[in-house]
Amino acid sequence: MTLIDGKMVASELRKEIRAEVAALNRENIRPCLAVVLVGDNPASRVYVSNKEKDCAECGLVSKEHKLSAETGEQELLALIAALNADESVHGIIVQLPLPKQIDEQRVIAAISPDKDVDCFHPYNVGCMMQGNDRFLPCTPAGVMALLDYYHIDPAGKHCVVLGRSNIVGKPQAMLLLRRNGTVTICHSKTPDLAAECRKADILVSAVGKVNLVTADMVKQGAVVIDVAMNRNEAGKLCGDVAFDAVAPQCSYITPVPGGVGPMTRLMLLRNTLTAAARKK
Ligand code: NAP
Repeated sequence: MTLIDGKMVASELRKEIRAEVAALNRENIRPCLAVVLVGDNPASRVYVSNKEKDCAECGLVSKEHKLSAETGEQELLALIAALNADESVHGIIVQLPLPKQIDEQRVIAAISPDKDVDCFHPYNVGCMMQGNDRFLPCTPAGVMALLDYYHIDPAGKHCVVLGRSNIVGKPQAMLLLRRNGTVTICHSKTPDLAAECRKADILVSAVGKVNLVTADMVKQGAVVIDVAMNRNEAGKLCGDVAFDAVAPQCSYITPVPGGVGPMTRLMLLRNTLTAAARKK
């Protein structure tokens, strides 16, 4: 069994990002990510500060816009319009979830598709479906980068994705399909999850339930990618997969933490550089 080391792969790829930032700087382009945080959700605050730290480490500029939890939708839309028009800003992310008075889909659709570095805008989602994308959604793209790094080719493999969210499950399935995997998507209404999982050569779990994937659900030699980030009863960070029991029968497996998470963060920087490079 090989442990897929997302931290190591991300740190390798970070060197490439730094070199690309330096090359853009030489052309007087300062790649810049605007990060919008509405309210004071503690998890969101951590995600936002990590994104800013990542930018600083790789030489990108980050501009934080903190708005109060009472912010109205019009005020947020006005900020997005200003960021869309600001030539010094290349990427915009609005940290989700948003307070309930704000319609998330309306906000996502207001971000210029050219600056939509989360790749949530319907236009960019459509481009990804058609295979003529400029951005890819960060978490699924991070999973694909891990597979590539370890020379795991989805072509001809049976890939099973657990979860069908717009952010992870659906785009993950699409990216595996684009790479010629035969893809099954499972969700909460799938009647026999274990039977579906046992067919997987590559199993990607993005549900958010501790110990959902147990050893009897995983085929000998399967590749297991655990996207989830949960807390177990002891408060320890863990994924969906019962790691200790499942790992011995896998060919490759990601740990949580240290698997997909670091790659997601890196892919946001990659998308921001893609947006900045379009300005050349
Ligand atoms: P989400 O929007 O809550 O979606 C969860 C999906 O799991 C839904 O499609 C749901 O099905 C499905 N599901 C729920 N119970 C199930 C069950 N018993 N069997 C099979 N499927 C079931 O979550 P998300 O945003 O996609 O995130 C999923 C997990 O990934 C979370 O733990 C999140 O923290 C983590 N995550 C990690 C990263 C990272 O960088 N590592 C990034 C994003 C998310 P229905 O559609 O039928 O409800």
